[in-house]
Amino acid sequence: MGNQRGAKCKLCRREGEKLFLKGMRCLMAKCPVETGRPPPGVHGQRRSRKMSDYGVQLREKQKLRRQYGLQEGQFRLFFERVAKRRGVTGEQLLQMLESRLDNVVYRLGFAGSRKEARQMVVHNHVQVNARKATVPSMILEPGAVVQVKDRSSSRALAGRNLEAAQGRELAPWLSRDDAAFTGEFLRVPSREEIAPVVNEQLIVELYSK
Ligand code: SF4
Repeated sequence: MGNQRGAKCKLCRREGEKLFLKGMRCLMAKCPVETGRPPPGVHGQRRSRKMSDYGVQLREKQKLRRQYGLQEGQFRLFFERVAKRRGVTGEQLLQMLESRLDNVVYRLGFAGSRKEARQMVVHNHVQVNARKATVPSMILEPGAVVQVKDRSSSRALAGRNLEAAQGRELAPWLSRDDAAFTGEFLRVPSREEIAPVVNEQLIVELYSK
């Protein structure tokens, strides 16, 4: 995770928004963003200087990149891949991020955070359409079925996370069969369905310079 190894809550406090980096702990009342802790650093409480346009664009990019747990280089490559596609680049960026295998494993509740989802994929705990799938950045097509491997260690891990995720609403573009440890990526979500974490147009502007 490169530069994201440090205290994750600091990243959220830096942005002044919840980026949901610590799984279920993010839903608790003691989340530092909920309790109103100021940004980190000695100048955190006094930060009032007006940001430049570049600064605002940069912060939007950092917010999105950190939320999905990508390193700078990975994010840039991902953006370039998206930019080659037809359609509105900013919208497609969010849709492609949501279609990633690691994100879907997290959204299905098999993992407590995107970071854990990525580890589960890399360590071969999940399959896609009954085939091996160990690449977290794999983009799922509508209809893809994600299954936790029928192995005691994999099911125990996903089972604990599923139990903890029971109160979490399942995204409408996914379906899940708890007993079978499977979930389906029904369709690509619309922009409106993806929580408006950022102004994605600012990220497009940043990378278009
Ligand atoms: Fe920490 Fe999660 Fe709250 Fe972010 S959302 S500050 S990671 S508890």
